[in-house]
Amino acid sequence: QLGVNRSTVILAFSELRALGIIESRSGSGTRVSQHKWGATPRHTPNWKRYAEGGSFLPNVPFLRRIREALQQNPSLIDFASGELSGDLSPLNEIAALMREHHYASYLGYVDPQGYMPLRQALVAYLDKYRGIQTTESSILITSGSQQSLFLITQCLLSPGDAVAIEDPSYAYSLPMFQSAGLRLFRLPVDHDGMCPDDLHALYKKHRIKMIFTNPNFQNPTGMVLHEERRAKLLEAARELGLPIVEDDPYSLTDYNGLTRPSLKSVDSTGSIIYIGSLSKIAASGLRIGWMVAPNAIVERLADARQQMDFGLSVIPQQVAAQFLSSEHFEPHLDRLRMQLLYKRDLLIEALQKELPDAVQYEIPQGGIHMWCKLIPEIHDAKLLEEAIKHGVVFVPGSVYGSDSGFVRFTFARAKTEDIGPGIARFAKALRTLTP
Ligand code: PMP
Repeated sequence: QLGVNRSTVILAFSELRALGIIESRSGSGTRVSQHKWGATPRHTPNWKRYAEGGSFLPNVPFLRRIREALQQNPSLIDFASGELSGDLSPLNEIAALMREHHYASYLGYVDPQGYMPLRQALVAYLDKYRGIQTTESSILITSGSQQSLFLITQCLLSPGDAVAIEDPSYAYSLPMFQSAGLRLFRLPVDHDGMCPDDLHALYKKHRIKMIFTNPNFQNPTGMVLHEERRAKLLEAARELGLPIVEDDPYSLTDYNGLTRPSLKSVDSTGSIIYIGSLSKIAASGLRIGWMVAPNAIVERLADARQQMDFGLSVIPQQVAAQFLSSEHFEPHLDRLRMQLLYKRDLLIEALQKELPDAVQYEIPQGGIHMWCKLIPEIHDAKLLEEAIKHGVVFVPGSVYGSDSGFVRFTFARAKTEDIGPGIARFAKALRTLTP
């Protein structure tokens, strides 16, 4: 009597068959395969297993669903994609610069730390707009700020490390943190931004290694970190000797043209890794991001970059360097802020008209996102599917790690004339789910 279950044996045989170690032919039974390692395999590779391999977790299913819906139906009104519409990007200005300058004069590899004229342009930019005095050697150019976050999580932290993040927090950072094996501890965000009160307790209990914050017009809430909290956060970081990653892609989109000091500009102990990007102020497709960090960190990450991809393509770096130093940049920013404010007001008008009692929100003073609480709360997945059926997409709140019952509307991507009709579609979808 064998102590093995029959189905275990059947399973084992089918695995061996899948691996090509045994062969079965009807009529002649099963035998060990003549197949030798290195010879042409007789079976298709198990692609599913490969696709599930590696260290990256898949993105949140809702985000994949939204991308798929937009691909299948480009006429959906898009309140989901966190980017500017084409008319908000400086397309004419960049086309003019590209005509004026001979970009193809050098097309070799450039320094993986970044194209020097772009780093020089950023030294001036950071001083003028973010109050940061730095030098070219402290700047690393990355493929968007996303890659800065990626390099930090993969190269400076180790699996099992604990980090403090915002709740809710930037959606595409979450699977990336989890793929790096980090343990995530959340600090709540309200209308004054992230509340740092629990930092000491978290540090004591979990040995926090790093703090991530998006202090200006936070994604997804649109809120700004209050001055007192900034001071508290810096003080806590100083006391605990903790680095803060200041993820700052939205600060220049303040509708009143205010430039709030960056955390980095008021930090006296060198606790900040500062990250910026052209994605929300010019064009996300340029994939230009930057990091300002201590030289040892920049050198380490530039070296990793050499292994990964030899640095960013020189062409967008040349374009960005020209654009940032050109007379076009400032008027473009002014126009962008005005148009974003106009779009925000269209969204508020539409919400007041279509959903006067069904949503609550704080009005953002900059940025591209509006965070709305639904009353009553609606199941995220049902609402998203219903909205897609009605021709509109948004991002459900649970994607940001927060409770369900919230939605994020991004108002920068949709055309101005689509904002009202888009909210009307959303309201219709909502009504079909509420009694
Ligand atoms: N950080 C935050 C807070 C963001 O909202 C985004 C984009 N949505 C990014 C980083 C990444 O942007 P990019 O790589 O295009 O600069």
